[in-house]
Amino acid sequence: MKYRIGQGYDVHQLEEGRDFWLGGIKISHTHGAKGHSDADVVCHVLCDALLGAANMRNIGYHFSDKDPQWKGVDSKLLLAKVMEMIREKGYEVGNVDVTVVLQEPKLNPHIPTMKECLSKVMAIDIEDISIKATTSEHLGFVGKKEGIAAHCVALIYKQ
Ligand SMILES: [Zn+2]
Repeated sequence: MKYRIGQGYDVHQLEEGRDFWLGGIKISHTHGAKGHSDADVVCHVLCDALLGAANMRNIGYHFSDKDPQWKGVDSKLLLAKVMEMIREKGYEVGNVDVTVVLQEPKLNPHIPTMKECLSKVMAIDIEDISIKATTSEHLGFVGKKEGIAAHCVALIYKQ
């Protein structure tokens, strides 16, 4: 068995009145993340960690933010494509662990729904997806509610 590990990091600005997509679901909030796609940081860090683990560059390399075909795209579609790419190389996911850094709203009530949604998109067991949320204690751009950040590690393996 060959194991590989990958890491992902992403940041988006928050803007008033935008739809807030996170972990594949729409969260009701005054602000939403801004980006070329739907700006779902959880999907984006998952893509980057999985691509990194498979040594296949990053999300921007495969789905350029200059390419109009990805404008406003549902990031679940990008994540599904990344899963296809790593499976084509013979890899399967061991587990993924995501940390979202956000001042508000509280994400804990939404985490089970996100995990359920992502397990379908990635076609992996819900038990192999961990999502955690933390604040930045009112410090920096996250603390000032100007942005959202996320980190992820992913373990993949090949028989
Ligand atoms: Zn992103």
